[in-house]
Amino acid sequence: MERIGHWIDGRLAPGRSGRTASVWDPTTGQQQAEVDLADADVVDAAVASAGQAAAGWADTPLGARTSVLFAFRELLAANRKALAEVVSREHGKTAADADGEIARALDNVEFACGLTSHLEGRYTEGVSRGIDVHAVRAPLGVVAGITPFNFPAMVPMWMIPTALACGNAFVLKPSERDPSASLLLADLLRQAGLPDGVLNVVQGDRIAVERLLEHPDVQAISFVGSTEIARHIYATGAAHGKRVQALGGAKNHMVVLPDADVAAAADAAVSAGYGSAGERCMSVSVVVAVGEVAEPLVEAIAERLPGIEIGTGTGGAAEMGPLITAAHRDRVASYVEDAPGEGAQVRVDGRSAPAASRPGFYLGASLLDHVRPGSRAHTEEIFGPVLSVVRVDTYDEAMAVVDATPYGNGAAIFTRDGGLARRFSRAVQAGMVGVNVPIPVPVASHSFGGWKGSLFGDLHVYGPDGIRFYTRGKVVTSRWPEPRPETAGLPAHELDLGFPGSGGRA
Ligand code: NAD
Repeated sequence: MERIGHWIDGRLAPGRSGRTASVWDPTTGQQQAEVDLADADVVDAAVASAGQAAAGWADTPLGARTSVLFAFRELLAANRKALAEVVSREHGKTAADADGEIARALDNVEFACGLTSHLEGRYTEGVSRGIDVHAVRAPLGVVAGITPFNFPAMVPMWMIPTALACGNAFVLKPSERDPSASLLLADLLRQAGLPDGVLNVVQGDRIAVERLLEHPDVQAISFVGSTEIARHIYATGAAHGKRVQALGGAKNHMVVLPDADVAAAADAAVSAGYGSAGERCMSVSVVVAVGEVAEPLVEAIAERLPGIEIGTGTGGAAEMGPLITAAHRDRVASYVEDAPGEGAQVRVDGRSAPAASRPGFYLGASLLDHVRPGSRAHTEEIFGPVLSVVRVDTYDEAMAVVDATPYGNGAAIFTRDGGLARRFSRAVQAGMVGVNVPIPVPVASHSFGGWKGSLFGDLHVYGPDGIRFYTRGKVVTSRWPEPRPETAGLPAHELDLGFPGSGGRA
């Protein structure tokens, strides 16, 4: 059985805790590997290695740091297929979906390659006589990332390229369910010239996370995962004096107004609701159908579902893969089971899809209609191929349904009315909004993050917020006395020892 270990000091490091977890093949339901789970001393070794490398890396000229990222970008592009295969093998997502994940990872690496222009400081000359001020952003030192199973390559790439380009050393704790992509990424960074220790990977579970949260040498934590854990990470990291950004779960709504193009809205709902088997934090989970659009829209979505090709990541044309574990599949199916008791109608039951009886953790696409606002299917994150439809009469009712959820990651509206779309964009309580775009994931030059229970912390990930998160401000106030009159031939000035900027005022 393959054994998956850690990456410390620029090489693979076997586990030594004696604790392991099973890595499943979601397409067969069989165990395919075993991953080591770090205890505190492995985390300490990784943080110590990063600590030793951090100062030298921070002193490495910015251009030399971004050169490593340029080389990494080329290696990532050259190994795109191999990395996508590693992702599919452990996660179960389809080949096209895994390839899309790597494309997004590349987008983030490319943003970090341009850090020389993003990391500009500010300079104010002459704030007082002979006094100038400049503001710079300095790296934090050792920072850590804790990532979820659903994007084992992309989410680490939301964090690592920017953190490294800003001059930090990084410790990654990936999901124990699909740990191999992290090791391939670490090895590509080594090949790109990243000095040993600047990136370390510790495989693990709650025990490794708790040690990172309390470790005195870890300055900042980026977390992406479910809301309850995100809340805990934020509170515990902050209590230990760390900077924390903790992104949580989601329940994204797509409002469809009566004037929308029904076929286009149905296509969007199907791809955003069932793509990646619904295991995306930006999946559409609830369609809010306004007025007379409901009947034709539900009809159009339902008729598309039998056509979804369900299969393995290596299965060529497959459009939807299995879920991550048997327990998760059963939990997702429980929402379909409970729907009638909560007043909803099971329009399409994915439990009876032919694929659901295959070995592996498969479940077909389910469609719940007439879902009641406030029911479990409306408010809880399902994270599977179950799309709920809530029917309302007016735009205002739709807004009330959207804003009643405890999450605020993404929200979308489908309409031809620019005025209503604008009103929606301004009013909706979500961090990422789509207008006739179902999954409005920002490109790398903008930042990604939700509101309410979808994010704890002040700064979103990647883009401009990522740079702010992985650096801290420093303002330097300098006074250089006027040259001595005998050397410069100038009259001497009186010394002004007041606050810079007081300009001689009393
Ligand atoms: P998860 O919360 O179970 O795990 C995330 C990470 O936390 C993993 O590395 C895991 O090992 C660790 N972890 C798990 N339990 C822990 C505990 N008790 N204490 C400390 N650490 C713990 O999430 P998941 O199941 O891997 O991923 C799915 C979730 O992630 C969904 O809720 C999804 O919405 C969310 N997600 C959010 C975003 C976003 O950008 N907001 C992106 C991707 C995924």
